Amino acid sequence: MHCPACDSTNTYVADTIKDASGSIRRRRECKACGRRFSTIERIIDNTPLVVKRGGRREPFNRDKILGGLRVSCAKRPVSAEDIERLGELIESQVMALNKGEISARWIGDRVLAGLRELDEVAYIRYAIVYLNLKDLESVKGEIEKLLGER
Ligand SMILES: [Zn+2]
Repeated sequence: MHCPACDSTNTYVADTIKDASGSIRRRRECKACGRRFSTIERIIDNTPLVVKRGGRREPFNRDKILGGLRVSCAKRPVSAEDIERLGELIESQVMALNKGEISARWIGDRVLAGLRELDEVAYIRYAIVYLNLKDLESVKGEIEKLLGER
């Protein structure tokens, strides 16, 4: 910590106080010039909110993505490591956006893109729920799209 008066780093903590909000206040003193000053540490939660269809918001949660991936990949030849890796990839993509809010749609598209690489059956399973495919015809359409892009 630099002294605000002389810029020396030769400072020490004289006292530490934790206040009710969880912030930590440290009283410091500069050994070089004797100046007294305080610093405050507070928690900044960087977890973005996910905006769901209908406008409901909830904090981004990687475990939720992993849960959806596991269900889609059940009994498929996809390793736990691959699922974990995809979950991590999506989380890092979300964090890289550096936004306070992200649409559920954006995340769902990333999940679909990842599953497509991993396992086509898992992809279709996820697509049925996520794209809200209501009948065989739309499922068939999605499969044909997949086959057509091979
Ligand atoms: Zn100083």
